[in-house]
Amino acid sequence: MKKTLLLEGACPFYCKSDSLCLASISMMTVSDLTALVRCGGEDHDECPFFISKVLRKI
Ligand code: SF4
Repeated sequence: MKKTLLLEGACPFYCKSDSLCLASISMMTVSDLTALVRCGGEDHDECPFFISKVLRKI
C-alpha cells in the first residue's frame, strides 16, 4: 500500500493518515505531539530517525 504525505513541508517519512514514521524499522506510531512539533514541520531534519534513515541510504 502506498503511503501518502498530506502536509507540505513535513518530514517525507511521516505518514499522517496512519500516524506512522516510515523511517523507523519498526514502523513506529507517531504521537500527536511528536507529529505537531517534529514530523509535521520544517525541523524534521533534526530528528534522529530522519538522520539515521538518510545515512542508511548513502
Ligand atoms: S520527523 Fe522523525 S519521527 Fe517524524 S516521521 Fe520523520 S523521521 Fe519519523
